[in-house]
Amino acid sequence: MNENKVDVIIVGAGPAGTAAGITLARANKKVVIVERGSFAGSKNMFGGAIYDFPTCDLYPKFREEAPIERINKEHRYIINDSKSSVSLSYKKNDTENSYTVIRSKWDNWCIEQAVALGAYFSPKTTVRELIQKDGKVIGIKTDEEEFFADIVILADGVNSLLAKQIGLRKDIKDSQVAIGVKEVIKLPKEIIEQRFNLGENDGCITQIIGYPAKGFTGLGFMYTNKESITIGLGINLDELGKNKVTPNELLNNLKNHPNIYPLIKDGELIEYSAHLIPEGGFKAIPKLYGDGVMVVGDAAMLVNNVHFEGTNIAMLSGKLAAETAIEAIDSQIFSKEILSEYEEKLKNTSFYKDLKTYKDIIHIVHENSSQFLGYYPEKINQFFEMFTQTGYIPKKSLFRKYIKQFIKGRSFSRLFKDIGLFIKMFLGILK
Ligand SMILES: Cc1cc2nc3c(=O)[nH]c(=O)nc-3n(C[C@H](O)[C@H](O)[C@H](O)COP(=O)(O)OP(=O)(O)OC[C@H]3O[C@@H](n4cnc5c(N)ncnc54)[C@H](O)[C@@H]3O)c2cc1C
Repeated sequence: MNENKVDVIIVGAGPAGTAAGITLARANKKVVIVERGSFAGSKNMFGGAIYDFPTCDLYPKFREEAPIERINKEHRYIINDSKSSVSLSYKKNDTENSYTVIRSKWDNWCIEQAVALGAYFSPKTTVRELIQKDGKVIGIKTDEEEFFADIVILADGVNSLLAKQIGLRKDIKDSQVAIGVKEVIKLPKEIIEQRFNLGENDGCITQIIGYPAKGFTGLGFMYTNKESITIGLGINLDELGKNKVTPNELLNNLKNHPNIYPLIKDGELIEYSAHLIPEGGFKAIPKLYGDGVMVVGDAAMLVNNVHFEGTNIAMLSGKLAAETAIEAIDSQIFSKEILSEYEEKLKNTSFYKDLKTYKDIIHIVHENSSQFLGYYPEKINQFFEMFTQTGYIPKKSLFRKYIKQFIKGRSFSRLFKDIGLFIKMFLGILK
């Protein structure tokens, strides 16, 4: 037997790849996880929160043993204008289904669990090419060597040059990805809890609509870590390019917003990073399998942007691909017909169904972002400015002035169109 041959090679040690690796290791299959970074997580960034499901299936002791920053008890939604904000908060103290983590620590901890169960981990190894024979993927080529496997699982993230190499994916369009930029700002634990009104070790996820991503398809975010705050935004690449705005400018505007600045002031900047986010939704999902190969996680564009979910879908797709690989190894058939079972399994998950539910919303919002993410956030803020105003002007006059402002420069047909789009999106969810 070729000593460079194993049952499965996984490219990428992010949430998807490691989930596949630990599932295969648990089933005693010979599995190698190859990662270009110097350790798992060294190249990765996100907002970010991980979620209870399917984390608890893959890593049953993660709550006690993993490097978790905070348990998220509060979700805040902020609709920003450049000078004011309208906020909505949902807080439940006995909830425990999402956790902030730092990827360099989290990904590293996950790979340690896979290695402890028998997976072989090869960091600092970049896969340059897939090796094919008679149309079947049979291995990988790195800078130094060739390695062979019955199945290769591509968990190499949003760019997945490897899925492109074998024709499973096309070039990514700028409209199908967002660029995420973020800063991590160090602050004492007690200050974070004070500023965000949090109990000890509790966390808050904040999503920001409107300014500074005014009119672009994109949102701002803030996550509380143990001793730092993550602040950033994700903006559609296509719109950034067309409007000649840099993500840096937008992030600075967000940090200097009068209602955001007090939350991060006097903090020390300890990290700046940027990463692409798949944004094409259901319609951008590529072909998920071929002979001897399956594609999982971001490489398969599996991200739910409406709910900020990516890691959970990545983990679940990795697990399902691994379960399909186990069946294939047991039957010794590695054809695309057998591996198509992975897609069937994925289609039955709530995550896949969610992507389908939102398949039109993402595109409607993208095509009408100047309205939904620019005009209306501003008008909502103006409404509250008017509603909270006191003085000599009678309320009736204030209301009239507001309505005039609301429709100024907008035709009635545009307003009716937007109402129609809202109804279409709502009905699309229920369909
Ligand atoms: C700004 C931002 C905020 C986000 N916030 C959240 C959030 O709060 N919650 C959430 O659930 N999701 C969030 N996401 C999405 C989430 O991060 C991704 O969906 C998730 O990381 C996908 O996991 P993955 O394993 O598929 O890919 P990745 O995490 O990208 O991992 C891919 C791995 O493959 C390696 N690799 C790539 N090419 C090669 C190669 N040729 N050879 C060897 N190794 C290779 C990379 O180094 C990397 O380690 C966010 C994303 C961004 C960018």
